[in-house]
Amino acid sequence: MRLITSVSEMKALTRETRSRGKSVGLVPTMGALHKGHMSLVRQAKQQCDVVVVSVFVNPTQFGAGEDLERYPRDLDQDFQLLSSYNIDTAFAPSADEMYPDGFQTFVEPGPLARVFEGASRPRHFRGVATVVVKLFNIVQPDMGYFGQKDFQQAIVIRRLVEDLNLNTRLVVCPIVRDEDGLAVSSRNAYFNPSQRRSALAISRSLRTAEKLVHSGESDAAKVLEEMRRVLEADPRIKINYIEIVNPVSLEPVSRVTAGAIALAAAYVDRVRLIDNTILAPIGTSAEDRLQMALAAPAVTTLEARAPGFDTEAVIHKIEGCRDCAAISTILLPPREFMAGYIKRDYPDLSTIRTAIIGRHSTARPDNSFYRNSGRPNRFVTALYDLLGIDNFAEFKKRFILTDVIRCHASGPRIPEKAMRNCSRHLRNEISLFPNLERLVVLGEDAYMGVQRFLLERDPGEIQSFSSFIGSQGWVEEQAEIPSLDNRSVKIYYCHHPSLGYDRSPSLAAALV
Ligand code: AMP
Repeated sequence: MRLITSVSEMKALTRETRSRGKSVGLVPTMGALHKGHMSLVRQAKQQCDVVVVSVFVNPTQFGAGEDLERYPRDLDQDFQLLSSYNIDTAFAPSADEMYPDGFQTFVEPGPLARVFEGASRPRHFRGVATVVVKLFNIVQPDMGYFGQKDFQQAIVIRRLVEDLNLNTRLVVCPIVRDEDGLAVSSRNAYFNPSQRRSALAISRSLRTAEKLVHSGESDAAKVLEEMRRVLEADPRIKINYIEIVNPVSLEPVSRVTAGAIALAAAYVDRVRLIDNTILAPIGTSAEDRLQMALAAPAVTTLEARAPGFDTEAVIHKIEGCRDCAAISTILLPPREFMAGYIKRDYPDLSTIRTAIIGRHSTARPDNSFYRNSGRPNRFVTALYDLLGIDNFAEFKKRFILTDVIRCHASGPRIPEKAMRNCSRHLRNEISLFPNLERLVVLGEDAYMGVQRFLLERDPGEIQSFSSFIGSQGWVEEQAEIPSLDNRSVKIYYCHHPSLGYDRSPSLAAALV
């Protein structure tokens, strides 16, 4: 492992690493490393070629009277730990190196940084934002790793990355706890055994919130009341704040919905601790809860990257998806989306030999093909053109229209898990048509979904849509669908009728 203390040396190494085309992950820490930090390090190692861990107790994020001087520091032990994880580089500059004489420029985050931690520690996020921008500029990481433990920090940095067009993608990792439930923190080192027992009230209060929500309580005031009761039962604890907030805006909520986050900050004697939990239906994994809370651009959570879904074409409006209300797609057992229209429009399912995959956005009610069949829009007109038919009556004699993506999830990336659920619906749906022989796949997102989830191809083997489709504007292949007992079907891939259809010639001749 290389230990670097100078900014210029770190920059030189950055240049060299980038020139070799390696991806870089940065884990910013203040040292006194523990298993919470190491969970970030492990994640970074899995996702990046080169991992840099910065160890820097950043003075500008501490306020007067806070614990800057006595903040635990143990560089030797940190380096030993990082070496044992085969970390490439530790960057541990001095305060003078980062803030030399004459330093006077700060990054000032907005309102997200003024509540909770920002209200209790007025200049805290200004210091955090400044040091993060400096570190990102020095190390130029592809990915930056942060902990859910400091949830507000992750949200503030997400805003910063977006607002200042930084090139680093954020990864937020779940909270690591000790066996007794206490969130691991460098500041836990301050406690004697009895204080530590008191500190457990914080995680206990969050568990109480979870239990209440799981038992059906959705009134945030009632949940908070119980949390307060748990905390106030311990005389050493002084609550700084407890609140249940919307995870994107950090505004308090009155109703608890999946993804809302319970935040707690409290003093145990003189030591201030923070902790939180993301509230979600019982049994939801930590990663899925994080995904729900962070389902917004610029943040990629652990399980949230769906390789091959980096297309700008994905419309995102998670709450607006009428078919599945996205959150429920992620969490709840699938519903039979199409049951209604299938019954109404397809009295004899055996007549259908061709399924069209790739609707227009379902998020807008007037886009519903089956509901508004009498009022063709641009998509419908282009679709009929593509298929060589004139009207809906003809359409439903020969075709069924469905989609591989029902979850118009936030952000340019669709959560992997949502994709899997969406595709399960697709498989169920097309299995209803016993004589299915052909698929027509509209556009890039449907192409990716069909390749991955219907044909079960490895993401690494899937060509980009544009190179696959080539200049002809459409491609056909004969393929076996594992979920249909390996039935062989002909698949036609073409541009989406609403997105560049003019580049796909009509498939009418091929579909007769
Ligand atoms: P710190 O050294 O306290 O500034 O923390 C460095 C990074 O580690 C931050 O992104 C924290 O959110 C993260 N972190 C600290 N404690 C934990 C924990 N218990 N679990 C997960 N991440 C953590």
